[in-house]
Amino acid sequence: MAGTADSGETLGAEPQLAAMPEDWQRALAVVAHPDDLEYGAASAVAEWAARGKEITYLLATRGEAGIDSMEPAEAARVREAEERASAAAVGVTTVEFLDHRDGVIEEGLALRGDIASAIRRHRPELVLTINHHDSWGAGPGSPRNTPDHRAVGRSTLDAVGDAGNRWIFTEQLGKDGVEPWDGVRWVAVNASHSVTHAVAIGEEAARKGLASLMEHRAYITGLTDEDPEAYARTVVDGGMEMYGARYGGRRAVAFELFPC
Ligand SMILES: [Zn+2]
Repeated sequence: MAGTADSGETLGAEPQLAAMPEDWQRALAVVAHPDDLEYGAASAVAEWAARGKEITYLLATRGEAGIDSMEPAEAARVREAEERASAAAVGVTTVEFLDHRDGVIEEGLALRGDIASAIRRHRPELVLTINHHDSWGAGPGSPRNTPDHRAVGRSTLDAVGDAGNRWIFTEQLGKDGVEPWDGVRWVAVNASHSVTHAVAIGEEAARKGLASLMEHRAYITGLTDEDPEAYARTVVDGGMEMYGARYGGRRAVAFELFPC
């Protein structure tokens, strides 16, 4: 949407974001690595959990290849613990790991099947994931997204349809009462360059979101020499301010929303 002099908008300003849907009870968040949700989406999770909504985390890997100075077996143990603490900080108690291999996740039927199975078991109305696009920004020369994020984001978008179709991944059905689930109404993609919707973040949820990123202490310490709290604050507050500029000046977390 381009602004015009008549409308009073700044020429080329980005359009304001719509409000995220709130008429749902259960969400499933599917990402590649421990920390993927904590870079932004966790504050939204905190806001929703505080309103009594149930959010479950599903991680494709344990992030075992994410700390240069730490052997994968040890990193997997440390990062699983960090992710569970991060989830608890925003009111999430169920965290599941699929144990695909960090850094070399393959987009394909195995991953789609695993995600579809989780959707069938948890029966979410909203599915969350992070950026599935090739790059982080929309413009030419934007930094490229990582293969793991692309694979998990794209497979999550695809698995929503699979979960609802009783003739796909039929081996999953009937075990422990698992049935097809076609009740997903939206997939919301965080950290996309094409966000459309936002949720306002209150003081308490912002505090919890920051605490949730700071739980990734071993990961952040391996990533930067900066003080972990200063680093986390810059990331979390910076994101909310950026999106807030497109959401009435409120602190906000934004998503690219795909209705199903
Ligand atoms: Zn990641």
